[in-house]
Amino acid sequence: MAQPAGDSSTQLNPGLDYQALERFLVWIRPLQQALSLEVERGFSNLQGRKERFHSFMQRELGTPPQIPLPGDVPPRLQALAEGFAEYPSMEDAARRRQVTVVRQWLHALRQRLEPSAPMAPPRLKVAQRSSGSAASKSATPSLDSPLGQVKGIGPKLAERLASLGMLLVRDLILHYPRDYVDYSALRRIDALVPGETATIVATVRRCHGFTSPRNPNLSIIELQLQDPTGRIKVTRFLAGKRFSNPSYLHGQTRQYPSGATVAVSGLVKSGPYGISFQDPLIEVMESAQAPLRSSRIGRLLPVYPLTEGLTADRFRSLIERVLPSVRHWPEPLPRVRRESRTLLSRDKALVAIHRPESSDQLQQARHRLVFDEFLLLQLGLMQRRAALKQRSAPSLGCASDRDGLLGQFLTLLPFQFTAAQERVLAEIETDLNRQEPMARLVQGDVGSGKTVVAVAALLKAIQAGWQGAMMAPTEVLAEQHYRSLCGWMPPLHVTVELLTGSTPQKQRRRILADVASGACKILVGTHALLEDPVAFARLGLVVVDEQHRFGVRQRNRLLGKGLQPHLLTMTATPIPRTLALSLHGDLDVSQIDELPPGRTPISTAMITGSNRDEAYDLIRQEVDKGQRAYVVLPLVEESEKMDLRSAVDVHRQLADEVFPDLQVGLLHGRLASADKQAVIRAFAAGETNVLVSTTVVEVGVDVPEASVMVIDHADRFGLAQLHQLRGRVGRGAAASHCLLINDSRNPLARQRLEVLVRSTDGFEIAEMDLRLRGPGQVLGTRQSGLPDLALASLADDGSVLEEAREEAADILREDPELRDYPVLRALLDEQRSRVTAAAQLN
Ligand code: ADP
Ligand code: MG
Repeated sequence: MAQPAGDSSTQLNPGLDYQALERFLVWIRPLQQALSLEVERGFSNLQGRKERFHSFMQRELGTPPQIPLPGDVPPRLQALAEGFAEYPSMEDAARRRQVTVVRQWLHALRQRLEPSAPMAPPRLKVAQRSSGSAASKSATPSLDSPLGQVKGIGPKLAERLASLGMLLVRDLILHYPRDYVDYSALRRIDALVPGETATIVATVRRCHGFTSPRNPNLSIIELQLQDPTGRIKVTRFLAGKRFSNPSYLHGQTRQYPSGATVAVSGLVKSGPYGISFQDPLIEVMESAQAPLRSSRIGRLLPVYPLTEGLTADRFRSLIERVLPSVRHWPEPLPRVRRESRTLLSRDKALVAIHRPESSDQLQQARHRLVFDEFLLLQLGLMQRRAALKQRSAPSLGCASDRDGLLGQFLTLLPFQFTAAQERVLAEIETDLNRQEPMARLVQGDVGSGKTVVAVAALLKAIQAGWQGAMMAPTEVLAEQHYRSLCGWMPPLHVTVELLTGSTPQKQRRRILADVASGACKILVGTHALLEDPVAFARLGLVVVDEQHRFGVRQRNRLLGKGLQPHLLTMTATPIPRTLALSLHGDLDVSQIDELPPGRTPISTAMITGSNRDEAYDLIRQEVDKGQRAYVVLPLVEESEKMDLRSAVDVHRQLADEVFPDLQVGLLHGRLASADKQAVIRAFAAGETNVLVSTTVVEVGVDVPEASVMVIDHADRFGLAQLHQLRGRVGRGAAASHCLLINDSRNPLARQRLEVLVRSTDGFEIAEMDLRLRGPGQVLGTRQSGLPDLALASLADDGSVLEEAREEAADILREDPELRDYPVLRALLDEQRSRVTAAAQLN
């Protein structure tokens, strides 16, 4: 991003020298990013780590850097800063207005003070684009021109676009179509198929227009068309009084004289009088061979994501207007690389995604854009990984590994490791013997025995004279890990402590002291361990359970504490390996893809709400055999209060009416940690037979005697989550059951649940979930850091991802600092500062 100071001074704005510009950018970037985030999060006055959005804005706008600024700037900044004092009490619309005004103003300020786009090539001759569109004749705006400066976009429209997050020409171009209507299929009349969109070229036999006798506001133009294969009637409806004027209607029909050739595009439907088009687009052609003038008929017509207050046609014409600017787009890849992968150039791809000439070209355009997204992601991750590897971490190798603590632990266990566990432990041990920090993700299905593997790794660290930490996403889970460790460690004389938000002060002080002195070898806790002023004497290994809840930010915070321990993360929501590699490209991935033997598979069935009694009968049967049951309720409302109420209601109903003779417990998120613990303990001990719960039980709770899991409104859960929930049973020897209550009529919901009925393989389920819901839904744009376009491509075909990985590795092998790739470097810098800004505000 920062240009070398050398000869670039000539490009700089006379007002700001290089250093001042740097300081200006350091100040303005977080402001712009905070504003973008606020837009993305729906003007919610985002809560940052330290403060809310409005107070951040107030302070930062009020304290601009001490550099020579134009005279009008400081007073305006003061005024804008003061404006944010009112922000918390504003309505949404007012917030939106204010954020928009400030964004536009800051952007204009940046334009005034920054040198003109350093990456844009010098002005070239106007490119000879096909079929000379109107916009290419006038001067093309630069990519960084504010939209308000584009001809044809007035201040009002610019403001509307800004409130949708589009400020610059570049933003509009990056607003990709969500979908396309395909009018490119040219059909003969007798080959039209209802339900498809298509185009015909035909001759007008007759045309007449009339106003509906029943509705004077509705006029109708009816065309009788024919081609060599058949005839069809095409109707256009004109709603509005002005169309019912007879001379207007007559004029309309005169456009389509008998014998004229027309092209018609639209959705084909079948009606009572045979096949027809639904409100189609019609163009009169000079001859059947003449080129079409319309930008819509016979083409792939882009459909854009919802643009509040803008019609689709209006939006398409805006895009057409700015599209010529695409030729200024910097090309990240040198020609040789592009050609060896037969990639479209970046500018061609951008044009084609908005204005595809064929579905083949659209395919290529998508491929290129997705390739770039993945390439950038991979480069970022690979560079990070390289940086990490350069730090040194303690080597935890010992000559006699398997005779020491680790070996003793393995012999003490009442079971043998599975082959998969053995393999993964060996991979971990190899990492730990090195002097570079391990960063490994272990994926394994629920119950595959990840915990014991992690404990083995911890023991290896301790044996080498270091300490370990084990972190879980919830207190319940942390306490459970602590309990298992307390069962295993005493014979090995390894000290374990638990530190959570509810550890009493006195005990907390003692634990912190023991950790600092090295007397405590393993510290178990929630992720809050990172926030706490916990100082380890010699921290060698950190284990993080349920990695999907442990973000990049926390990982960084660990490093920020000045620690360089080895890092082992574990997740029970596996994703396909290639996807895992790409999303966690800075981690190595191991898979425990085998379950310990002797498990009776869980039988799963789907029932409807009206057959709820079947579920209760089953619970009763199992409880009579001495087993226990869970009844899980989903997040019914987006409000914890409502969920609580439904859990409380169901609990009362079960306890009073259905199972008055049994003990029914209740677990939900609102309980204090000690109460939660007490409820789980009572269930584990068999004091309660049935446990009604919200999704709190989702992660990791381990009660081997539980053999029934009833999940209410199962259709509201994701498959991975259901699989997790189901994993709470079947942990003992007894045959277990899972009943999914589905009240949805949606066939897709049924189809999704059937995957669970059929399969108990977490990897397969994850893959189906990706396929059925799409990666965007499953992973979320935010979590994966990938835009929807890239995510969507993963669903059909992961091969682009592979290609991008190879290319990224190849580029870095040749040029680790990306010296010869200024555009890629700039894009990566931008990506990083985006991540940092998000982290600051989060
Ligand atoms: P995960 O965390 O992967 O869901 P856990 O580590 O909690 O699974 O293991 C589930 C249960 O299986 C635990 O009770 C554990 O003691 C047991 N277990 C782990 N490995 C084996 C094995 N190789 N053979 C038999 N039981 C095992
Ligand atoms: Mg676990």
